This record gives sequence, C-alpha cells and structure tokens, in this order.
Amino acid sequence: MDCNHTKFNSWWEHDKQGIELCRVCDHCIAERLKKYDPAVLTQCQREVLGISGDVPEYEDVVDDTIEAEDGMEPYNEDLAISEPDYDF
Ligand SMILES: [Zn+2]
Repeated sequence: MDCNHTKFNSWWEHDKQGIELCRVCDHCIAERLKKYDPAVLTQCQREVLGISGDVPEYEDVVDDTIEAEDGMEPYNEDLAISEPDYDF
C-alpha cells in the first residue's frame, strides 16, 4: 500500500525496544504495522491493529519432568533366608 503521507503528517513508529520500524501516518499505520510480529510491537501498536490481550512473550519453558523412580521392592518375608534344616 502506497501512502503519500508527508513528513508533516507522519511519524516514525518504534518497536518496544525502540528500534525504528517504519514511517506512518494515520491512514497507513495499521497497514504498515501488521507486517510486523506482534511480539515486537508495543501495546499501543497492538491496539491499532485490534490485537486484544497480551501477546505471549517468548520465554524459556522449563521442562520439569520428574523421572518416575522404580518402586522399591517390598521386603518379602517369604523369601528371607531361613536357617537350613539339618536332617540328622
Ligand atoms: Zn501514510
């Protein structure tokens, strides 16, 4: 989409880290911003795009899988070694 905005009615949009994205005006801001990953946009920019709610941040997912331990064998008295029977 070409927009013939001028420097008098447009401004630079910056992502949430302050990096310049593009120059926009009221007419083309939504069109231009939607090319970007919502994760890098500021809350205000997301609202321009009609994205409601929080966009999930990238985060390290800690895979907290606990390995199941093998159950301890229950002590079995029947298998206990008993005194041998001496047969006289
Ligand atoms: Zn424009």
